[in-house]
Amino acid sequence: MPSDKKDDDNKKNDREKRILLIFGIVALIFTLTLNYVISKRQMQSVNEVKYSEFIDMVKEGKVDEVEFSGSVINFTLKEDKADQFGNKSKYYTGYINDPNLISRLEENDVAFDNPPTTSSPIISFVVEWVLPIAFFYLMISLLMRSMMKRMGGGFGKSNAKMYVEKETGITFADVAGEEEAKESLTEIVDFLHQPEKYTQIGAKLPRGALLVGPPGTGKTLLAKAVAGEAKVPFYSLSGSNFVEMFVGVGASRVRDLFKDAVANAPCIIFIDEIDAIGKSRDGTIGNDEREQTLNQLLSEMDGFDVTKGIVVIGATNRPEVLDQALLRPGRFDRRIVVDKPDLKGREDILKVHLKAVKTDDDIDLKQIALGTSGCAGADIANMVNEAALLAVREGRDKVRQSDLMEAIELVIAGKEKKDRILTEKERKIVAYHEVGHALAIALQKNTQPVQKITIVPRTMGSLGYTMQMPEEEHYLMSKEEITEQIVTLLSGRTAEEIIFNTVTTGAANDIERATELARAMVTKFGMSESFDMMALEKNSNMYLEGKTAMLCSDATGSKADYEALEIIKDCHKKATELLSANIDKLHKIAAFLIEKETITGEQFMELFNEKDEQSEENNITEE
Ligand code: ADP
Ligand code: MG
Ligand code: ZN
Repeated sequence: MPSDKKDDDNKKNDREKRILLIFGIVALIFTLTLNYVISKRQMQSVNEVKYSEFIDMVKEGKVDEVEFSGSVINFTLKEDKADQFGNKSKYYTGYINDPNLISRLEENDVAFDNPPTTSSPIISFVVEWVLPIAFFYLMISLLMRSMMKRMGGGFGKSNAKMYVEKETGITFADVAGEEEAKESLTEIVDFLHQPEKYTQIGAKLPRGALLVGPPGTGKTLLAKAVAGEAKVPFYSLSGSNFVEMFVGVGASRVRDLFKDAVANAPCIIFIDEIDAIGKSRDGTIGNDEREQTLNQLLSEMDGFDVTKGIVVIGATNRPEVLDQALLRPGRFDRRIVVDKPDLKGREDILKVHLKAVKTDDDIDLKQIALGTSGCAGADIANMVNEAALLAVREGRDKVRQSDLMEAIELVIAGKEKKDRILTEKERKIVAYHEVGHALAIALQKNTQPVQKITIVPRTMGSLGYTMQMPEEEHYLMSKEEITEQIVTLLSGRTAEEIIFNTVTTGAANDIERATELARAMVTKFGMSESFDMMALEKNSNMYLEGKTAMLCSDATGSKADYEALEIIKDCHKKATELLSANIDKLHKIAAFLIEKETITGEQFMELFNEKDEQSEENNITEE
């Protein structure tokens, strides 16, 4: 190994020497050209004159200044004009031992001088040659260096050194809500602490572990925590760093990274976003660079000596695209799922992040955790920070519960857009729309209670919204619950229809979500009559939402669309019935909302219940 290293160093020195030489030559050429151009310029403006002519000029009073300089006499003429640099054309003539010259000059009022030699040859050499060469050398090397950096850190050199952290300073205590993942990783920590314990009994430890899960759940954080717990250096590279424009760069980086890491074992090598290089090789159009990089990674993973205490940790949110060769035993054979946190997990993550900020004593963690259902750790970290910023903005020195609740809305719906002015009519429509949602929620028993209704527009596009807050976390949803949710989503638009007898564009998002739910009931959850328990669609990506692939024929697909349409029609009818039967409440609460702009869930429920009594009274008086 040491001789290897020396070889490498020699090679590096050779290359550096060659580059220095090239820079030097280029600088020299620049300087030569410069000096040539300058001397040419000077020559152009210097004219030789015969001594007799010079004497004539002196007599005629044409000469301005005379300078004796060794064997020549330089002089300028009065009639010449100075150029833009203040220099006059120069003339010279040979010096002849003429005893009358001085008196002649004096007679004609010519200034003359015998200047001391202005510069020694050494100084002029330095000024004319050494300084320019040094200057150009510096400029060129700076230029080249910045270019090379832009092209990827010096042709094929590893950036691994830039990513090494001697101590990450992060421990398992900083990662909350991922208990199972931590448990699996504890063994790796122990192995890095004392590899002998495992090797002496003959146990083989995993070379690699793959952290998979949705974005923002703490995969990178966990990898750092493993290094921090084991107190070993942390070498990390992101998959996207590997993919360069020059073929071969990625592979050489992988090689250098492993070489560095092996020299510093025990340590952790972390490859983030590994799907960028580890994408399955077959099927797609060939990508030489990526394949080379992947092959290098595969061979390095086989090559290093496990007993030294090196563990490679990869992270990805698209495990299904990874090449099978990466996943086989002996490589990333351990898969550790880092999923979105549950209620308890979110509470713990909140605790971790709230530790860093000053808070009031009466923070209700559970309520916030309930409100952040579906959020990943990164969202929660972001939310806590937003809450702290809100507190600062209001000049307080502690974060309150209300800040945190406001921050949830910020993360979900965006900032309040105070400068967006709705017309009177629009405000009315939005208010009825939102109260339509809220009434549907209150009138159906399987939905989550209303937390807040507002008609203040938000930056993320909504003109108003109704916030629901679950009372407990659900992991299953019944058919009834989904149906009621669709009814709730459709009630906003339905309220507009009933009251204004017209429809607006404001319901696009509601409609989209309702359609998604209805489709999922048919294609994924087996909740329709005609398709029974047949799956028609599946998620093509486990941890990134959105993309789905159809499993059925086109004909079946279009039947499924009609089935979903039927569900939506039913729910629309249901919403119309619900709201028509409670139209008094709709009017009253909407009027209140228009006046107040924002009302809380309690205010809403008060109105909702009180209204009942009133209308009963009304009914009685009418009768
Ligand atoms: P990933 O790599 O899974 O996309 P990161 O590890 O980069 O996510 O997480 C981003 C940030 O979110 C972290 O720096 C941390 O502040 C916060 N975070 C994410 N998950 C957790 C967690 N389980 N516990 C505490 N903080 C977390
Ligand atoms: Mg990450
Ligand atoms: Zn709506």
